[in-house]
Amino acid sequence: MEVLKEKIFLKKGGDLRDVQMVNRRIYGAVDDRFFSNWELFSNQERFMMRALKGIRKDDMEKLRVNLVIATSWFLALMNRIHVDIEDAVWNRFPYLCSYCGSCPCACKKIKPSKRARITKKPHLRPKNIRGFQEMFEEIYPSGSRTLEHAGIHQAEEQGELSEAMQVFAGSHKKSTFQEIIDESADYLSCVFAIANSANIDLQSELEKFYSNNCHACHQAPCKCDFRMISDFKS
Ligand SMILES: [Zn+2]
Ligand SMILES: [Zn+2]
Repeated sequence: MEVLKEKIFLKKGGDLRDVQMVNRRIYGAVDDRFFSNWELFSNQERFMMRALKGIRKDDMEKLRVNLVIATSWFLALMNRIHVDIEDAVWNRFPYLCSYCGSCPCACKKIKPSKRARITKKPHLRPKNIRGFQEMFEEIYPSGSRTLEHAGIHQAEEQGELSEAMQVFAGSHKKSTFQEIIDESADYLSCVFAIANSANIDLQSELEKFYSNNCHACHQAPCKCDFRMISDFKS
């Protein structure tokens, strides 16, 4: 496989589209050749579960490292299924709770029985990853939950994304694909919630992670073999 001469990295202040594109340039060819959708998903899940173990063990370093690696595998999955995750997140959370339509979320207070109709205000759309993290802090303030609560919610969303993928694989209908898009947005909203609850700045963590090609082999395209990935200590 041809090794790219230029270094691939996430530019300072990049947005969610930039990081998804950087992931594709480093890992796209390798992912397409070696991994099925389910293997991408299972790698994402492995590292997210390690992140949750970090919460259980009160090991914030384990949480931080694995949250970022899990996010990288999540972006790989988004690239595979051609979902623009920045659009997906903005369409679902346009500076409002996707359920009650308020900011901050008032679901606990008003207990809505169905999703509110939401009108987007395009000028509020965050310009970078940090902007999205700040937006989620305003919609779902970390002061109103514990880190453990955020972790449990993440595990719920992991299950819902998995279910949406299974349903789509069994139906191949456009309407069921929309469920994957919605669940992917919910999943990433929980990544931001954990980051907010644990004081992790995802913008700078992703900039560090994607600073010199693959974070493990430092090549682009990535040359890590299958065993290296499953045995990666984190
Ligand atoms: Zn709400
Ligand atoms: Zn690599």
